Amino acid sequence: MREIRGKPLSLLIDEGSIRKRVRELAREIEKDFSHSEGEPVVVGLLKGAFIFVADLVREMDIAVVVDFLWVSSYGQSTESSGVIKVLKDLDTDVEGRWVLLVDDILDTGLTLKEIHTFLLRKKPAVLRTCVFLEKEGRKKVDFNPDYIGFKVPNKFLVGYGLDWGEMGRNLKGIYAVES
Ligand code: 5GP
Ligand code: MG
Repeated sequence: MREIRGKPLSLLIDEGSIRKRVRELAREIEKDFSHSEGEPVVVGLLKGAFIFVADLVREMDIAVVVDFLWVSSYGQSTESSGVIKVLKDLDTDVEGRWVLLVDDILDTGLTLKEIHTFLLRKKPAVLRTCVFLEKEGRKKVDFNPDYIGFKVPNKFLVGYGLDWGEMGRNLKGIYAVES
């Protein structure tokens, strides 16, 4: 059994299921974004979304620009406050363009809602959101992503970009950290 720092990991979503679902999402997004004038801009949130973005854009058969945004959320608590600090802004001017915001996981939704507002200020023509995972029954704000990979139970998850103290990002599946 795999483990991180002595804690066992249990497999929740395997590599094959991820590949299949990413392909489905790519088809759906590609179809919706085919109306874009000029190349759509895929904005991945660092660090967690880096693997999902890499897989998603490679499954898409349309020309896209890829950019990354890196924010940290203020506050000491393990739950996000929703107040963000931008560590790395976009390199691309997204005004008037079709933008797809991509994140790894939606928990309370506080962070993504704040980032969504931040990106709207840049006046994109269209702004849609895609999350790889959404935790069930955890949302604290009214924010609904346009595309969701998988709904997951309220457990702490690692793998496929998601970390536990920087460990576990390179795992090919999604695992729950068991205590
Ligand atoms: P939210 O603002 O939606 O509560 O927080 C979302 C962020 O919290 C995610 O982008 C991710 O960085 C982190 N997060 C939430 N749940 C998990 C989890 O189960 N595992 C990991 N590794 N990060 C999580
Ligand atoms: Mg994150």
